[in-house]
Amino acid sequence: MITADMTLSRNAVDFIDDGRIEDLLAGARPDRQAVRDIIAKSLAKQALSVEETAALVKADQPELVEEIFEAARQLKRTVYGNRIVLFAPLYVGSYCNNACVYCSFKRSNPDAMRKTLTDDELVDQVKALENMGHKRLILVFGEHPWYAPQFLTDCVRKVYEVRVGRGDIRRVNINAAPLDHEGFRIVREAAIGTFQIFQETYNHRAYAAWHPPMTRKHGYLWRLDAMCRAMESGQDDVGIGALFGLADWRFEVLGLVTHSLHLQEKYGCGPHTVSFPRLKPAAGVKVASKHLVNDHDFKRIIAILRLAVPYTGLICTARENPRIRREAMDLGVSQIDAGTRIELGGYTASGDAQQLEKEQFAISDTRPLDDVVLELIRTGHVPSWCTSCYRLGRTGEHFMEFAIPGFIKRFCTPNALTTLMEYLVDYATPQTRREGLQLIGRESRKMEESPIKKQLADRLEKIRTTDQRDLYF
Ligand code: SAM
Repeated sequence: MITADMTLSRNAVDFIDDGRIEDLLAGARPDRQAVRDIIAKSLAKQALSVEETAALVKADQPELVEEIFEAARQLKRTVYGNRIVLFAPLYVGSYCNNACVYCSFKRSNPDAMRKTLTDDELVDQVKALENMGHKRLILVFGEHPWYAPQFLTDCVRKVYEVRVGRGDIRRVNINAAPLDHEGFRIVREAAIGTFQIFQETYNHRAYAAWHPPMTRKHGYLWRLDAMCRAMESGQDDVGIGALFGLADWRFEVLGLVTHSLHLQEKYGCGPHTVSFPRLKPAAGVKVASKHLVNDHDFKRIIAILRLAVPYTGLICTARENPRIRREAMDLGVSQIDAGTRIELGGYTASGDAQQLEKEQFAISDTRPLDDVVLELIRTGHVPSWCTSCYRLGRTGEHFMEFAIPGFIKRFCTPNALTTLMEYLVDYATPQTRREGLQLIGRESRKMEESPIKKQLADRLEKIRTTDQRDLYF
């Protein structure tokens, strides 16, 4: 329910038409040539329409699915190269007034450990993350009056202030409840990166069932409209997502693409990232859903999204196990978390065991950051902690102008390599350092001769031999 104190965006509409999406999904399978034409459009780096995406969703013949996978792999390589951006989630507060059936933060869950990190605890968590080598965080909050915009802003500022050794956090993203215009303006002032809000499910009936009445989150439109309010408040760097397993995955894919196109049409700029977490077991939660997504369909989701929104970052979190994450990266994922702990205070707790009552859900990849970095290096990826775009104002509409051929060569690859060099010199284990330095050598040699290549060589040497850091293009 939208109440008088909840102002929606300009000309806000509920742009998700369930009937239309269901009709698109119910139609006949597309013929092979139609699917190949759509794939070709995507390989030419054009975003797909909802109808075209529906055709890919319906193309479930094994050989067409294989062609979609192959095209997604190709597009991933041409748009993003072999870089993978690394970040860590930092859970700040688990108080929540919502009652989401699937979430252990829900207010009726007596097993959940409720906690908000104190300032000192927040600083300790950030120090631990910096000591691992992290540069990019996403702060996560439940929905509670305590987590008001000013509180979010104070947390972000505090995180940016923490410095241990050569460590610093250069980009702080947020995952929190939808704000109003003023709220988005307030958090924007703290120089946040992406503001991420997942719609959870785009299907109205399912949304109402999973998010009980008498909670703020029950209001579908308030949530759907959140990114529009963010855009109108100057927060043009937004992340959308759906929690797969709550409704038919095909519906969710079309919902995500509709959302992305709506932002693009209304504000000239689509979302920066799309997330597609799968529902996981959580303490105090009994979830019976007929829509749980198997691994094969999960890969189809990633590949279809890669083709539908070629320039949008795709995030695959540690909810997934290492094997699936490896496949996800090849199919289109551009960002992963690593060294992840989602229990409150987890980065300073000893031991690897998960403590479900302190967490929102179970994760499946608990490897330390250095293990993930080494695996990336060995599988031909370049781990990147680059934060240059948003610090140089290359976000939103402006970012789209840069996301053109040549951009990766000029900025992304050099920035990935300088941040990797920082990691290798300051934090890596000897083995990771050895193999990482070899990778930097190989990647540098691949670059065409240019002034940037010379500058890069100079900066890499400075980082290797001096205290100079944060040298970005
Ligand atoms: N307060 C924030 C809001 O209202 O958007 C939510 C923060 S929640 C900690 C972050 C996300 O975790 C949710 O948006 C949801 O998609 C996901 N999540 C919740 N329960 C989950 C579960 N059991 N398995 C996997 N992901 C879950």
